[in-house]
Amino acid sequence: MKGTAQTDELDTEDSTVKEELKQAALKGGALVFGVADASAFTAAPEGYRPTDILPGARSVVVIGGSKPRAGDWQSPNYQHMELSSTNDRITALSMRLAHTIERQAGYYAVVVPPGVDQGQLPFMSLALAAELAGCGTPSLAGPVLHPEHGFMYFSALVTTLSLPVDGPLTHPACPAPACVEMYQRSGATPCTTTCPIEDNGCLGGTIVDGRWTERQYDRARCMARVYNYWVPTFQKILTETLDEPDNEQRRMMINSTLFSRSLWSMTYANISQGQCFECMRVCPVDQANRQLS
Ligand code: SF4
Ligand code: SF4
Repeated sequence: MKGTAQTDELDTEDSTVKEELKQAALKGGALVFGVADASAFTAAPEGYRPTDILPGARSVVVIGGSKPRAGDWQSPNYQHMELSSTNDRITALSMRLAHTIERQAGYYAVVVPPGVDQGQLPFMSLALAAELAGCGTPSLAGPVLHPEHGFMYFSALVTTLSLPVDGPLTHPACPAPACVEMYQRSGATPCTTTCPIEDNGCLGGTIVDGRWTERQYDRARCMARVYNYWVPTFQKILTETLDEPDNEQRRMMINSTLFSRSLWSMTYANISQGQCFECMRVCPVDQANRQLS
């Protein structure tokens, strides 16, 4: 081990290092922790793989958490979810793990930025990382779901440190058994009922033998509903405002609720906040964790 610290160096055994990182992550608030092989990201386009972020990368450490609290799902004011729906808290924890790897183990570690690169593509797909690290499986509605904790936010760091790999889960969290039962009865699941693609929604598909065999997901429509107030809205309103010849109308546009919310949304966090959760609100995967007094 290339450690430099005298007293708090990580143990030299890879499996011990991994366990120490995992315990630090769980203590810091993560719900799940997993490691993917950096060379396993063949499904990602060239330029968006771990070695494109850090040459010589060998492992990708993924943590998940910061999901909405049980109370958030109870609130009748869905708009408050913007506060609980950012990945900056889990990204900050990833930064701490990266510091630990660099300072105590002596290997390079880079946190994958949570934003998007050119063409709205992520710098590296956190969903693919979470899947390859065994932190969950892709759902019909888009997010990677953990079998116990359901929807959550993920962060990933790329490192030259070689760690034992966890690998993908073998059984998908979606569709949940309750969804399969409902589909057999009615041909729909909770999320496809809430946001049906055949009725101006985004979701549809076919379940055969307990698995989705056909997935219909209108990504563009969903994105327009999830990110109402963020950068794209700001750009759209700014363009319209600059084109508006009437002074009073221009003033009204700048002071409108839509514009104010867009600015607020952009400035209280450095990343985007989800603004539609209706498919996750009805998703049964982690319903047991949402039942409190
Ligand atoms: S996030 Fe909203 S718009 Fe997107 S699929 Fe779910 S319910 Fe539909
Ligand atoms: S409600 Fe959840 S588990 Fe069920 S089909 Fe939709 S995303 Fe999958």
